[in-house]
Amino acid sequence: MTTAITLADIHAARRRIAGVAARTPLIPSPALSRVAGAQVYLKLENLQPTGAFKIRGAANKIARLVEESGTAGPVAGVTTFSTGNHGRAVAHVARRFGVRAVICVSRGVPAVKLQAIRDLGAAIDVSPTQDEAEARCRRLAEEQGLVLVHPFDDLDVIAGQGTIGLELLEDLPEVDAIVMPLSGGGLLSGVAVALKALRPGVRVIGVSMERAPVMYHSLRAGRPVTLPEEPTLADSLVGGIGLDNRYTFRLVRELADGVVLVSEEAIARAMAFMLREHGLLIEGGAATAVAALLEGKLEAAAGSSAAPRRIAVVVTGRNVDVGRALAAMEPYLEP
Ligand SMILES: *Cc1c(COP(=O)(O)O)cnc(C)c1O
Repeated sequence: MTTAITLADIHAARRRIAGVAARTPLIPSPALSRVAGAQVYLKLENLQPTGAFKIRGAANKIARLVEESGTAGPVAGVTTFSTGNHGRAVAHVARRFGVRAVICVSRGVPAVKLQAIRDLGAAIDVSPTQDEAEARCRRLAEEQGLVLVHPFDDLDVIAGQGTIGLELLEDLPEVDAIVMPLSGGGLLSGVAVALKALRPGVRVIGVSMERAPVMYHSLRAGRPVTLPEEPTLADSLVGGIGLDNRYTFRLVRELADGVVLVSEEAIARAMAFMLREHGLLIEGGAATAVAALLEGKLEAAAGSSAAPRRIAVVVTGRNVDVGRALAAMEPYLEP
C-alpha cells in the first residue's frame, strides 16, 4: 500500500475546505435500485457551488498555499489546465482567497464553462488540445512564478477529493461499493484512500467513456500511455494522465477494484434517466457512472465476491451546454 497520502491528510483537507466546498447530500435512488437489484444512493456533487466536486481539491490546495504563504511570502498566483470544471473551481477558490488565477483550456471546453470562469474574474488561455493546454500552463507557471494547481496528480488535490469518502461513510456506514467517473484519477484515488482505510472490503469502481479512456489503457499497459483525444459527451473526462504521472496511476492501480467503459449512447441514456427519474440535469462525464449501472456493467467489474447490497454513485457534476445536452438526450427522454 502506498503511503504517499493518508487518511489524516484527508481529515485535514476536510477542515480546510469547510465553508468553501459544500457538504453534499446523499439521496436514495429507487429507480436505479430497481435496475441494479441493490440499494443505490447518489452523492450529489452536482450541488457544489461550482457545479462539480473539483472545488474540494482546489480549495484544499489553495487554502493550504495561503496558510503557508504566511511564512513563505505572498502567493503570486495560481494557474491550471482543465477541461472546465477544475478551472472553474480554481477560479472560484482563488477569487475567494484574493489570489490571481490563469486558466489554460483546450478548444473543446464548452462555452458555458468558459463563461463561468470568465465571470469569476480569472484569465483564460486557449490551446488547440488538452495536452497543449497543459504544456502552456507549465510554461506560464515557470515564467510568472504561478503555482500550478494540477487537476488530479497532486496530493493536496487528491486529499480534497477524498473528503467525499468521509462524508459518504457518515451517511452510509455500511456502503459495499462505490461507482464514480474516472479520468485522471484524482477523485478515485482520494475517495478510495478514505474508504479503504475506514471500511476495508468496500469495492471501488471507476467508469470511463469508450472514446480515448487513457487511464483504462494505461492500467492495461502497466504504465501511463497517451491516446489521441476524441469528441465525447463526457467532455470533463477528456485528456491524458501524464506520461510522468506521479501519484494517481499507482493509486488507481492499487485501489480500484475494476474499471469499466461505457458508450456514447449509454451516456446519453443515463443523462436522460437522471432527468426523468430525479429531475437532475447532469453532465456526460458524471453520467458515465450512472450508465455503468444501467448497462449492468458492475457485476463483471466488481469481481467474483458477493454482489454489493449498498452502492453509492458519485454524481460528479452538472455543467452542460443545455442545448447540446437536450439534443443528446432527446431520443431517450420517454421511458
Ligand atoms: C474531473 C471530473 C471527473 C474525473 O475526475 P478525475 O479526478 O480526473 O478522475 C469526473 N466528473 C466530472 C464532472 C469532472 O469534472
